[in-house]
Amino acid sequence: NKAKHSGRATYAFYTQELTLYAQQRVELAISLRQALLKEELRAHYQPIHDLDSGRLIGFESLVRWQHPERGLVPPGEFIPIAEENGLISDIDLWMLEQACLQMRAWLESGCRLKFVAVNISSRLFNRGILDLRVAEILARTGLPAQYLELEITESTVMREPEVALEQLQRLRELGIRLAIDDFGTGHSSLLRLKRMPVHKLKIDQGFVAGLPADSEDAAITRSVIMLAHSLGLTVLAEGIERPEQMDFLKRNRCDLGQGYLFGKPLPVEQLAQALEEIRET
Ligand code: C2E
Ligand code: CA
Ligand code: CA
Ligand code: CA
Repeated sequence: NKAKHSGRATYAFYTQELTLYAQQRVELAISLRQALLKEELRAHYQPIHDLDSGRLIGFESLVRWQHPERGLVPPGEFIPIAEENGLISDIDLWMLEQACLQMRAWLESGCRLKFVAVNISSRLFNRGILDLRVAEILARTGLPAQYLELEITESTVMREPEVALEQLQRLRELGIRLAIDDFGTGHSSLLRLKRMPVHKLKIDQGFVAGLPADSEDAAITRSVIMLAHSLGLTVLAEGIERPEQMDFLKRNRCDLGQGYLFGKPLPVEQLAQALEEIRET
């Protein structure tokens, strides 16, 4: 009897908690929708370097929410909600346009960058109209297709590989570049990977974290680098924070690197110094 009673109390407590949680999420969803209209979203850019030469060669765009009361909200706190209610597609299309405009401006000011990379959610990727939207945005912003790279996660690509293959092919026909993000976490079959018309694999930062000491992380990283190269793909390691990690990756012929060691994601105004070094004179 006593147990039953306390069980009920716990239940009541959980319902209250859940209601509060659900309510917060609804509120967040509403204010996120308004954030898009009120232009509270910001694009930050993280540098990507060629490991051989050490040179800055591109940027990845990462979304931030400049909330009037809460300050800068990281994507981990609002992307899951945006994925649930579908708002993520509008956010991605907005980011895509910002990144294309920005890349065009960088190129026009003489920066020798090779690409800007934009994250695409599975929601948007699976709608089947991504190639049409990308074509519109390229036309509207005037960015030549070869400078745009889309990052699609391994799990998105591998969930329905046949459907994904068709969408990737249509995107590739536009002349843009394609990267598989978070590689190593999404159960690729090698046969399917071989057929995917992509240019780049991004090794998930979870594997880079343990380099060079963790022998499993080291073995996985080495095999992904070899796999990428044997398929003729470029390979990038994410989340590089320490020089020892970079040394390991260079020794093992990883092409590109990204991480706090090179630079954190920053708003455009704070990238001037990094860009000055690659400006054409
Ligand atoms: P991601 O695409 O794998 O992006 C890499 C994340 O790692 C970023 O977190 C970046 O700030 C962080 N990072 C970079 N270098 C380091 C490092 O050296 N150490 C550590 N510990 N972290 C590093 P962020 O910006 O918080 O983004 C988190 C995730 O949110 C992204 O993971 C991506 O999945 C998603 N995201 C961000 N922007 C967008 C967007 O515009 N659209 C979509 N669909 N998703 C986005
Ligand atoms: Ca990414
Ligand atoms: Ca990633
Ligand atoms: Ca190289």
